Amino acid sequence: SKIVIQSIIPIISIVAIVVVVIVFIMWRYSAHLTRAMQQLQNFIVKVEGGNFKTELGRKVAERNDELGMIGRSAVQMQAALRELVERDSLTGLYNRHYGEYWLREMKKEAGRTGISFYVAIADIDHFKNFNDQYGHDCGDMVLKQVSKVLDETMRPGGYAARWGGEEFLLIFSEKGEEQAIDRVNGIVEKIRSLKMRYGEQELSITVTIGFVSGDAKKHEDELFKMADKALYEGKENGRDQVRAFEV
Ligand code: GH3
Ligand code: MG
Ligand code: MG
Repeated sequence: SKIVIQSIIPIISIVAIVVVVIVFIMWRYSAHLTRAMQQLQNFIVKVEGGNFKTELGRKVAERNDELGMIGRSAVQMQAALRELVERDSLTGLYNRHYGEYWLREMKKEAGRTGISFYVAIADIDHFKNFNDQYGHDCGDMVLKQVSKVLDETMRPGGYAARWGGEEFLLIFSEKGEEQAIDRVNGIVEKIRSLKMRYGEQELSITVTIGFVSGDAKKHEDELFKMADKALYEGKENGRDQVRAFEV
């Protein structure tokens, strides 16, 4: 019996050590897995709540297993949802909802840091006639081209949003009012000289812009109304121009 016990003890010891090692490895692995699943769940819950800025941890996104695949799909879904919620589908600009959002953000920043910001509404001139003459598809092409100019001119430090139909909201910061007016004047000039091809035809169009200096203390609606009033005056005054708000 002594010989049997002596030969069994090493076997039992080895088995015990192996079991302990396996349990340890499994415990470590399942802890990693649980943490990754929790990160993924937190990410999805945040996206579900409308947080499109949240990021999925790299450790999850780079996994080579099913969890990594689900993670990468969730990130793509987040980007697609963000696009749907924030952007106008025809022009790719921010939609009205997000234009308003950026104005609130700009106002907050101005209140905090004292930066100067400006609000403008750009409206394509006689666009109804243009549609009637060349067709709706051609009108859509023009909206895209005008949007491209607005988007480019608003970078950096600004945002262009499609306010509705053929109207666009521009929000941007500048050193001073003179530079801000130069920037919007640049838009009017650029669009005036834009030559757009539609089939055999070369077309051009103009815009009128109503402009107002931002004031962090004023409500967004008040700023919109002021820019809109200036826009109306610009239309009355012959279009194809920038008109600053005057009391
Ligand atoms: P004004 O110079 O006074 O601004 O004249 P307007 O003709 O541009 O203004 P109006 O408000 O009378 O007409 C706007 C037109 O914009 C009418 C509508 O057919 C056109 N429009 C609005 N949204 C779209 C769109 O998504 N695509 C196209 N092609 N046309 C659009
Ligand atoms: Mg209009
Ligand atoms: Mg118009």
